[in-house]
Amino acid sequence: MNQAANANLFSRLFDGLDDPNRLAIETLDGGRITYADLIARAGQIANVLVARGVKTGDRVAAQTEKSVSALVLYLATVRAGAVYLPLNTAYTLNELDYFITDAEPSLVVCDPSRAEGIGSIAAKVRARVETIGADGRGSLTEAADKAKAEFVTVPRTGDDLAAILYTSGTTGRSKGAMLSHDNLASNSLTLVDFWRFTDKDVLIHALPIYHTHGLFVASNVTLFARASMIFLPKFDPDLTIKLMARATVLMGVPTFYTRLLQNAALSREATRHMRLFVSGSAPLLADTHREWSARTGHAVLERYGMTETNMNTSNPYDGERVPGAVGYALPGVSVRVTDPETGKELAREEIGMIEVKGPNVFKGYWRMPEKTRSEFRDDGFFITGDLGKIDDKGYVHILGRGKDLVISGGFNVYPKEIESEIDAMPGVVESAVIGVPHADFGEGVTAVVVRQPGASVSDDSVLRGLDGRLAKFKMPKRVFIVDDLPRNTMGKVQKNVLRETYKDIYTKK
Ligand code: AMP
Repeated sequence: MNQAANANLFSRLFDGLDDPNRLAIETLDGGRITYADLIARAGQIANVLVARGVKTGDRVAAQTEKSVSALVLYLATVRAGAVYLPLNTAYTLNELDYFITDAEPSLVVCDPSRAEGIGSIAAKVRARVETIGADGRGSLTEAADKAKAEFVTVPRTGDDLAAILYTSGTTGRSKGAMLSHDNLASNSLTLVDFWRFTDKDVLIHALPIYHTHGLFVASNVTLFARASMIFLPKFDPDLTIKLMARATVLMGVPTFYTRLLQNAALSREATRHMRLFVSGSAPLLADTHREWSARTGHAVLERYGMTETNMNTSNPYDGERVPGAVGYALPGVSVRVTDPETGKELAREEIGMIEVKGPNVFKGYWRMPEKTRSEFRDDGFFITGDLGKIDDKGYVHILGRGKDLVISGGFNVYPKEIESEIDAMPGVVESAVIGVPHADFGEGVTAVVVRQPGASVSDDSVLRGLDGRLAKFKMPKRVFIVDDLPRNTMGKVQKNVLRETYKDIYTKK
């Protein structure tokens, strides 16, 4: 793994490129970016980063709309030996304050419309601000136009950090998962092999690039394979079906598949040119898997991963892709199921905590050594927080989350964060936020609120109070006002009871 002269992910991606004129990225407006263009552009942006004072090991935070320039910023940051820190475009200024003051980047790149608001946050940590808009243009790209394309990739070891991706925290504090050059390179190379990527592949890239799935799985795998991608600003079912006529792979969250199934144009004929459909980031319902096979003749390949670990398991390329299962541990990755209390390894078919170990597993949480220690076993296994089992054929099944995470439309929503916002509203006693099955989003964020006697709190007033304070994907789809929350004898709110009570609010016809 560390044989390369420079273990920098950028060197591993592009050194020894045989045909620089090969197509890397196509855009909807007819843009065609070759590997040579990508490398030259990354050189120009890397030169600007250095000129703006970004040093080896510094963080470069980016809240940018999806564009080729935004993807090149990631490559350029890594090339300059800095640490890329992507931020969900839905985060409000209120939320960004925490990430920026915690990560202390030396540069923040954002949409021009947000430069002022973000500027006052960045000033607190003396970070500079540059812009890239949805059209890929901004102060950063203007400066890059005038910069040199030559740039000597900064030497890094495999253990040095390439990126920090924040995951929301159950106790209110988000954690920055520190990912090394080795973590990212090893996992992408494994996936290229396992999913049989070649330079003939054309990926429909419809995922956001602030998350591990679209940024690392989709982009790095394509680039390592010398394949190309059709870069869509966002998922569009009609367009995706049209593009299938000349593409070979789609990577999606389950919502993509449920939306595509609702589209009359989806058929065997429409998917004839495709060789692989990958799903992950949230559970793909077994029904969706079966329906997809019946409609298209393709079995969706479901895989399981997380921000902290990259990809851990995958259904096989050639063997049976089992609906509702996430497949086997990937080569080089160890997966085990343990008793959550004792940590003792459990037998096949027994349900417990999923733990993983391998070159894919992150280096720990940014500036949280104790939290990091508590989530690793002494023998190096990471405790994922997911409950599951390994069946007698070796397939891993995810059966729920130990943490009370809600996954809506492929995005993680931590109830605690929303509960804290609701609890702070006048007239509210307490609240519980749960995930309830939702045909489109997988789970719909649902808030159950107890109001003070006589207070005029209503579902509408709660939603109005949250508006602008939370990213849209975290907003409750429904709010229920109740007298009490169900509790166990230890005084803990029984969210399982609430989930049962509201289980069919989004599915009842
Ligand atoms: P994230 O860090 O946003 O990628 O979210 C990781 C979490 O998503 C995991 O810990 C799982 O709970 C969940 N997840 C990812 N892939 C799957 C899958 N194929 N099936 C079920 N849950 C999944």
